[in-house]
Amino acid sequence: MSSIFGRQIHHTVYQGGPLPPFGAPAYEYLLAGNGLFLRAESEHIAALCHIQKFEVRGLPALAQEIRPKHGRIKGELLWQIRKDMATYHNREMMYYVTLAGGRVRVHRPRQVGTGASVHYEDAIDYGRAILDLHSHASMKAFFSATDDADEQGFRWYGVIGRVYDRPEIALRLGVYGYHLRVPAATLFTGTFGTHGTLGIHDTFYPRPAHFMNDQDDEE
Ligand SMILES: [Zn+2]
Repeated sequence: MSSIFGRQIHHTVYQGGPLPPFGAPAYEYLLAGNGLFLRAESEHIAALCHIQKFEVRGLPALAQEIRPKHGRIKGELLWQIRKDMATYHNREMMYYVTLAGGRVRVHRPRQVGTGASVHYEDAIDYGRAILDLHSHASMKAFFSATDDADEQGFRWYGVIGRVYDRPEIALRLGVYGYHLRVPAATLFTGTFGTHGTLGIHDTFYPRPAHFMNDQDDEE
């Protein structure tokens, strides 16, 4: 590890009590009695992620906590984005969402999408996006190896699949290359599931803690 990158990361042995305010330039590893945690915080996201579960005798445990600091986004927005995605038949489309002054904006950058991939350009404010969302056209919602490689920022990442007939969403938090699957309701209001009010099925399922690779998403 380079010394420059090393300074961006803090390493802490958790000794109990409330955590002090987040102070690492990038992120912080915390060793606790129940395993390894990754902590990161931005203007919009506070995350304490349980990335590896194991027992460390003599240390107190921590609990995972992941939340959008400015509250959740209206679930209806997902339905609007899905509708827009559906107008591009058999094309994967990419969108991103920014939040400024309490105002949520959806951006659809100029892009060249095919059935299998999407490239984009002219992405105004992309660096400030809180959420990246792309479609898988008629395919299921899952994170591919390409998505894993591309999604290296600290923000939410979502995929909407089966766009035309039975829309479903997969959502995760990315923390500089770590990926943690979360229920869609972590970020969006509304009810998800087969008969949910949004009509969008949440592909989240509880799983053992490991999210270095999401390969088993691909089934
Ligand atoms: Zn994808």
